[in-house]
This record gives sequence, structure tokens and C-alpha cells, in this order.
Amino acid sequence: MKQSQITYWCHSIIRSQVKEGGFYIDATMGKGNDTLFLCQLAGEHGSVYAFDIQEAAFAAAEKLLESHGYGYIRHTAPVCPEFSDSSVPLNSENSSLAQGNIYLIKDGHENMDRYFTPETADLVCFNFGYLPGGDHRIATKPQTSITAIAKGLKILKSGGMMSLCIYSGGDTGFAEKDAVLQYLKMLPAREYTVIVNEYYNRENRPPLPVFIFKR
Ligand code: SAM
Repeated sequence: MKQSQITYWCHSIIRSQVKEGGFYIDATMGKGNDTLFLCQLAGEHGSVYAFDIQEAAFAAAEKLLESHGYGYIRHTAPVCPEFSDSSVPLNSENSSLAQGNIYLIKDGHENMDRYFTPETADLVCFNFGYLPGGDHRIATKPQTSITAIAKGLKILKSGGMMSLCIYSGGDTGFAEKDAVLQYLKMLPAREYTVIVNEYYNRENRPPLPVFIFKR
């Protein structure tokens, strides 16, 4: 599959900053392009957890992973009592769920703190907006996105990285971009370095890649 320029750029930055074989969270799985990239980066020893809320995303992402030979474990939050017990987080060595290394979780990323302990992830990756080719009404929303970013930053370990790709205009509007950028501006510089990239000479509201490094 041909990667978009923005995807290629984000993946290049992630690859240059994050160690292989780590613990990665894809907060917006969609068709699974980022999930697949993280699975490749994770290799045999790492682990990948991907969130989405719609069935169409799971159908596409599962097909993509399978076509590349990856197995996965799929979870739907309400039927997994283990998830409600925060003393047995998924990435804990005590958890029987931590046997495999690729988990697809049907739940909102704003609930990601139910699954992981703080200061454990090497990377949390967001690709906001709607599923390409899908229902544009099922899209990330300003408030849940900010909640998820805040929770993701807590789950990141020191030295870890968050990657965000923010879209605006068209069906997406500007509310999410504005709210997320306003939130990121408030992050304490002593704890986080926030790098906002920009397609400086491109028209029609190009996507905005953002990278956050936790000190
Ligand atoms: N990373 C994807 C890829 O590589 O194909 C693209 C992601 S797509 C732009 C955005 C996805 O976010 C959609 O599939 C949508 O269902 C999902 N989404 C929307 N709200 C969400 C939420 N609260 N939690 C998790 N995923 C959500």
C-alpha cells in the first residue's frame, strides 16, 4: 500500500526516536496503517495496543494485519472484566492477557487509562479525524481527544514520545485542531517538549504533525 506523505513523515520521525521492541499504543487504529507500522517496529518482543470505536475500522485493520501475517487478540471492553480491574493492567507481567503482543481494543481512547499503568509506554500515536472512506460523522472529538492526550501523556514513560496527526477543515472543522493546540500550549515545558510541524507552503489546510517528548 502506498503511504501518504504525512504518514511517511510521522513514521520516519517515530522510527528515529523510539527504540524497537517497545510498548506502543495506537490510539486511533482506523484502517490499521499505523498499527501495522507499530507491529513491524515492535517485532517479536514488543507489544502493540490499538483502539477504535467502530466496526468498519476493525474489519479493515484486521484484514491489513492478516495480509502481513500478524495475529492479534481482539477485545471489546464490556466483556472483559479483567479490564475493569486496574490492579491487573494489560501490560503487567502478572496479566494472563499479556501473553500475545498485538491487541485490538474496541473502546474509546479516552478510556485508555483503564488498560495501562502510568509511565510504561514508549509511544502513543494519534491520527485524528474520521475513517477514510467511512462515516465522516464517526470522528474524533475535541473533548475526548484532549482527555485521551492527557491520559496518554501519563501512560508514557519518561523519554517516551507521543505522535499526533491533526486534520482540519471540510467535515472535520477546526474545533478539534484549535482545542488540541490550545491544550498542548499549556503543557509544562519542564516536563514536555512539544514540536508542531507545518506544511508551510501547502494550501487547503494540510494536516499538522505534532510530536511530544516526555522528559
Ligand atoms: N491510524 C489510522 C490508519 O492508520 O489508518 C487512521 C485513523 S482515522 C483518521 C481516525 C479513527 O479514529 C477512525 O477510525 C475513528 O473511528 C477513530 N476514533 C474516533 N473517535 C475515537 C475514540 N474516541 N477512540 C478511539 N478511536 C476513535
